[in-house]
Amino acid sequence: MPENIVTYAEAIRILQREAEKLAPAETQELPLLETMGRVLAAPVLADRDQPPFPRSTRDGYACIATDLRSGNPLRITGQVRAGEAWQGPPLQSGEAIEIMTGAPVPTGADCVVMLEHVIVEASSLRLKEPRALQPGENIVPTGAEAKSGTVILPAGTRLTASRIAAAAACGYARPSVFRRPRIAILATGDELVSLEATPLPHQIRNSNSYSLAAQIQAAGAEPLLLPVARDSQADIVSAIGNAQACDLLLLSGGVSMGKYDFVEQALHHLGAEFFFTGAKIQPGRPVVFGRLPHQYFFGLPGNPVSTLVTFALFAQPLIAALSGEVSGGPKFVLARLAHEVRGKAGLTRFLPARVNYSIGGNQDAAEGATAALIPWQGSGDLASTASANGFAVLPNDGKTLPAGSLISILMI
Ligand code: AMP
Ligand code: MG
Repeated sequence: MPENIVTYAEAIRILQREAEKLAPAETQELPLLETMGRVLAAPVLADRDQPPFPRSTRDGYACIATDLRSGNPLRITGQVRAGEAWQGPPLQSGEAIEIMTGAPVPTGADCVVMLEHVIVEASSLRLKEPRALQPGENIVPTGAEAKSGTVILPAGTRLTASRIAAAAACGYARPSVFRRPRIAILATGDELVSLEATPLPHQIRNSNSYSLAAQIQAAGAEPLLLPVARDSQADIVSAIGNAQACDLLLLSGGVSMGKYDFVEQALHHLGAEFFFTGAKIQPGRPVVFGRLPHQYFFGLPGNPVSTLVTFALFAQPLIAALSGEVSGGPKFVLARLAHEVRGKAGLTRFLPARVNYSIGGNQDAAEGATAALIPWQGSGDLASTASANGFAVLPNDGKTLPAGSLISILMI
């Protein structure tokens, strides 16, 4: 079988090319609260102007800006609160109407003066000290946030808390979202035993099926854990047959050059097309990406950290595309290296790192958070990697990055 080992940048281009071909067909209408993390299949439109009336942003007094400048006291003629419409006549020069935050500003008023800035005596009002209010001050005009009918969230948007709020504000009790993609997980390896079994000294617990399932769930998709396949072409071929109803197949292990690595042969036997058979990355070099007649697949290297990294780099964005999300790639943040790090020419490296945030998060975004690499024993070392919250990206130019350099961190 011909090899095709690509750079990280080429791998991403190939992925992008394939992702653009994907469009999920099935949609569902779900109760709004069940749509967190789902992708909109239809846009959310403003069903009326937002705000629907000129909204006061302060507790205070609605009045006319030029009246305040005159310094003459204003006569308070009434009150309007949130949830009420002003029932009286339009406000006239010389008048003020007490108003609460969120209440509709009465016709005739052009500003709201804050409660804190006035003195009220015997239903008349004056400024505590001279200040020039502008017309429009402390008022959001009708439709200033969104005009009725405008698109607030386009189809292809993944719903977050703030977007669910926007949909709620427009009355979307049951938005239309895409079905979650179903992702099959097939771990391969003669050494693997289930979590329930007591491993013999030479056996290894199957942790990859669990890390992958967790990453799939975090990516907004549904994992299907298949029974572990043994290191034989026949066993892998028959196991792949059980994944046909899934939108994507993730295999772990068996993609290296070893004598008992049969995954590529099994895929080839089933008529797979291979887009790449390795990437110049570390960890994760043996990663394979391709297509079977009915679904895309990734052959992820079995070393647990390689599996984690290659999922985050390649499988997650493809799952985003299968979910209907527009440009849903992995998340990188910038951080400053706490110490010097040496790169390796020709390899893009993703090394377990701990990004330090204070309780206030990373407030000074320009400064960047700081990141320290975690000492580890290589891509089989789950115990050390478990204390990482990201992977530092070391470019493939082989340069040494001094302490304080800004680097990208792939967040996990
Ligand atoms: P392989 O990619 O099959 O050559 O496996 C590389 C390393 O990853 C070996 O040390 C395997 O024991 C380990 N490994 C493979 N699959 C899993 C798995 N599902 N869970 C944990 N470790 C695994
Ligand atoms: Mg193996």
